Formats: sequence, structure tokens, C-alpha cells
Amino acid sequence: MAKKTDYLMEKYEEMKEEGLTWTIRNLEGPSQPHVTVDGKECIMLASNNYLDLANHPRLREAGKKAIEEYGAGAGSDWSIAGTMDIHEELWDRIAEFKESEAGMTYQTGFAVNAGLVPQLAGKGDVLISDELNHGSIIDGIMIAQRMFKADKMIYSHSDMGELEECLKKADEEGYNRKIVLTDGVFSMDGDVAKMDEIQKLADEYGALTYVDDAHGEGVLGGGHGIAKEFDLVDDIDIQMGTFSKAFGGFGGMLAGNEGLIKYAYNTSRSWLLSAAFPPHVAAINIEALDVVEEENDRVQKLWDLTEYFKSEMESMGFDTGFSETPIVPAMVGDSKKCQKLADRLYEEGIFGLAIVYPMVPKGKARIRNQINAGLTKDDLNEVLRIYEKLGKELDLI
Ligand SMILES: *Cc1c(COP(=O)(O)O)cnc(C)c1O
Repeated sequence: MAKKTDYLMEKYEEMKEEGLTWTIRNLEGPSQPHVTVDGKECIMLASNNYLDLANHPRLREAGKKAIEEYGAGAGSDWSIAGTMDIHEELWDRIAEFKESEAGMTYQTGFAVNAGLVPQLAGKGDVLISDELNHGSIIDGIMIAQRMFKADKMIYSHSDMGELEECLKKADEEGYNRKIVLTDGVFSMDGDVAKMDEIQKLADEYGALTYVDDAHGEGVLGGGHGIAKEFDLVDDIDIQMGTFSKAFGGFGGMLAGNEGLIKYAYNTSRSWLLSAAFPPHVAAINIEALDVVEEENDRVQKLWDLTEYFKSEMESMGFDTGFSETPIVPAMVGDSKKCQKLADRLYEEGIFGLAIVYPMVPKGKARIRNQINAGLTKDDLNEVLRIYEKLGKELDLI
């Protein structure tokens, strides 16, 4: 019988025809360097678990202990009765880790951007954004425009000349507040924002800076993130991030001064109208920050493996694009060919994600390899051996 929702299946079929749908792969067991994906053992190159903390014994123990002490759920919205003392302990720990005056958590990194960005700018203000910023920033800006009548300007990716033009134009047009928003590490290419230049320009024109450090935390600045990397901990106005990537846990974070934090949790609808994450998640996140500081060789190992993998890929003839971080793409170009390479990698026991249009421009399809500190050099040699074989098979090298 026909259902009113049948149009959704039709749309889905159309998208599938164009190759725009996701095939969900199931991990059978923890996320770690060696995983079982849909019944096949693979070397994992598609996770954000850069420091191999997602299955770390200390994080597991911290979570178990917190469940015994606090139970399974937070029981309420953050704003009503869901914020427990263990959450606030995490807030303080974030501030300490980021060397900021204050810190707080949201359910997810997405919820920070979608909930906070709209509250930062209203009529007569302008949000100035890198064209490749994460979708959650884009959504936040859209809400700021629609609901609060803020304006936006977009500059070409990492183009500092264009950023300056935007700032100049904003001054000429008499905007009140200017906010420059940027990802710290851009997740499709693995390049790093020119944070020193962005901050300098922002200071020159009296603009605020807002940085999304999701792929930089645990990776840059000895694990402390992009502000530390560029020695800008006292300069960047607003830093957000997530515990769900290198830190191996879950949840969004915000760091900045006391006023920012108090304002953020009194205005962000994604925080006010949504449940606190479970207490054991807070415990896991606290433990993650401790482990990053206490086992700092993990960060170094991540970088050593990254350098090795990248230079071997390049000397084999692969194009790794603009990579400057443990995100090391293997550029392919054509979407179908890229999909084919991903399928062949999987058959050979490597789980690497094909990134195709519309996530990246047409003709810029690539496999996004993400290095993990828990891999060994032998693992990488195996990966390289297979890349060499498939690179020849598919005429890429
Ligand atoms: C992953 C990511 C987010 C979202 O973080 P979650 O905690 O997974 O919601 C936001 N911004 C960027 C740049 C990201 O890469």
C-alpha cells in the first residue's frame, strides 16, 4: 500500500543512482587500530581516534567506576537537573587543559557550533567564515542570519588576502561586531588554518576569533590543540572542540573567559533544551585529558608515524594533497575510481574512507587516511605494500 512517506524512498533511490548515499559499515568490537568491519579484519585508517584512546584501559575503568557511582544517565537537561558535579569537574579540567579562564561541555561539538554561533551575532554584526568550515559552523551561521539578522561573509579557503578584504569591507560598511570563524584543522585535506595570520588580522581590525579545534586537539600543540601550537592561548577569543576524536570519548567542549561561558549556557538552545551526556562520559573525558598529559609520547608517536606514512606514499608517487596533519589523503580525482580504490582496499584488509562529491569538489575525490598512534610501523608497511599494488592496478602511480 502506498504510504505518504514513499517520496523519501524515491529520493533515496535517486541519490543512490548518483552515488550520493552512504553505506554504513559496522565495527564488530572496539574502535582500535585493528578492527573487524562487517566480518572482515582490517587495519583502521578511517577513524578520528588519533591517539588510540577510544579503547584505552584507563578510560574504560574510569567509565565503569562512574557508572557505579552515578548511574547510567544524567536524568535531565543540562539546564534543569542534568549537570552533575562530575560534569562540572570536567568543565574545570577543560579550562585547565586549554589554559583558559573557564570551560564547559555540550552534548557534541556539533551542538556547540549550531547552538552558540547564532548567539554571538545579531543585527549589525557580521560572521566571517572560511569557505571550508565544518557544516555545524555553517548551520550556526545560517541560524544567526535567519533568526538574529546577522550578516555573513565567506572567504576562499585560507586566503588571507580575502580575509583582510572582508574585514576592511566590514569596517567600511560600519558593522558593529566582526567575528572570524575557522576550523583549526580542515578535515578533508588535513591542512592547518594560518592561525597566526588570522589572529593578527583579527586584532588589527578589532574582530573576535572563533576556532573549531575538533581535529587539532590531541594532535597539535603537544596534544593541547591549535592555540598552544601557535602560542595563542591568550589571544583566541573562543575555542570549541570535541571529546569524540583524538580524546577517544564523547561530547563537545567550549573554552574561553568566564563571561563567554556564562553567556553560552544561558543562551544556546542546543544546551538549554537538551539532556546532559551521561556521567560516565564525563569521567571518560576527564581521564582522556589526564592520559594525554601523562602519556605524551602518544602524540609524538602519532607524528612520527604520520611523517613516515606520508613520505613513503609520496615517494611511491601518490599525491597527498595539502596534508599537514595525521589526515593524509591519497588523491584520486574521479569519484568512481576512488570508490573502486576504497572497495579494493577493504578487500585487502584496509579500512580507508572514500571522500567524494559533494563532500569535496568534483574531480577531487580521495581516500582519507587517518593515522593512529596505536599502529605499528609493520602495520604501515603492510598498508604501503597494498597501496603500491592498488596504485599500479588503478593507474594512480
Ligand atoms: C567532528 C567535527 C565536529 C563535530 O563534533 P562532534 O562532537 O562529533 O559533534 C565539529 N567541527 C569539526 C571541524 C569537526 O571535525
